Amino acid sequence: MKSYPGLNIVMYHYILKNNKFYNYKLNSLNVDTFYNQIKKISKNNKIITPEEFRFKLNKKYKFKNEFILTFDDGYKCHYKIVKKILDIYKMKGFFYPTCFPYVNKNLLDINKIHLILSKEKNKKKIINFIYSQLKNKNFKIYKRINKTITKINKIKSYDDIETKIIKGLLQTFLPHKISSEITNILFKKIIKMPEDYFFKKFYLNFREIINLDKEKHEIGLHGFNHNRYQYLTSENQNIDIRKSKKFWKLILKNKSKWSICYPFGSYNNTTLKCVNKNKIDFALTTEKGSNISLNKKPLTLKRWDANDFL
Ligand SMILES: [Zn+2]
Repeated sequence: MKSYPGLNIVMYHYILKNNKFYNYKLNSLNVDTFYNQIKKISKNNKIITPEEFRFKLNKKYKFKNEFILTFDDGYKCHYKIVKKILDIYKMKGFFYPTCFPYVNKNLLDINKIHLILSKEKNKKKIINFIYSQLKNKNFKIYKRINKTITKINKIKSYDDIETKIIKGLLQTFLPHKISSEITNILFKKIIKMPEDYFFKKFYLNFREIINLDKEKHEIGLHGFNHNRYQYLTSENQNIDIRKSKKFWKLILKNKSKWSICYPFGSYNNTTLKCVNKNKIDFALTTEKGSNISLNKKPLTLKRWDANDFL
């Protein structure tokens, strides 16, 4: 692979064997693809550790063909699969778990949606169900649905058109309360399993997170509830960031350096102020690209998607 200028950050989510989580096929990166990808990146670039990254950041050194690897949402596969591969190369990753699942012994809505999409192949049926629910729950939003769909269609994504509509409605354009209610009804109807059945299988446990931290991987904040910061009031953004920092401080007792990965890459000026106030060194977005010139405290770092290097 070519050499990339500046600092490059790759974003990973699920990395699975045969793209399978138990019986569910998830939209994920295959283990072998991941293994080959970091081998390819390393040819003309250097994958650096959190320690090296912070050192260069503090010294204001220039980044040149350097990569860091980030893993969002704290999935179990990040320990069972990713860590094993990183260990082979003596590499360190940047891991961003949320807090909600641990407090509620439940899945995040995004993960419920992934399981629903995996089980129900008839996507039109899901879309129609969402429409019928909306019609009952909030007629005003239902009446504007065509406008919303036009907006969703403009989003660039690796998903097919129907998946994009389902995710767009449930993850972005419907008010959180309504989308969460609809997601839960769909989950019960389609998955037919208690939500806490998946919790332990889905996410890293505290022992694994403590180990990652001890072995000098980065554990950073990814929101308490995985909400989009740009839609929260400044007070609620502050609460979410403070609460998640406090949560991880209780688990990782000696942790003193912090970073954040904005859930869904969503932030606004208020977020930047909150992040600053909470003494967070750097922050990751989902805007695409290399980071060429960096501030000492970079709070809007761009990232590549793993799929950009396939
Ligand atoms: Zn996330």
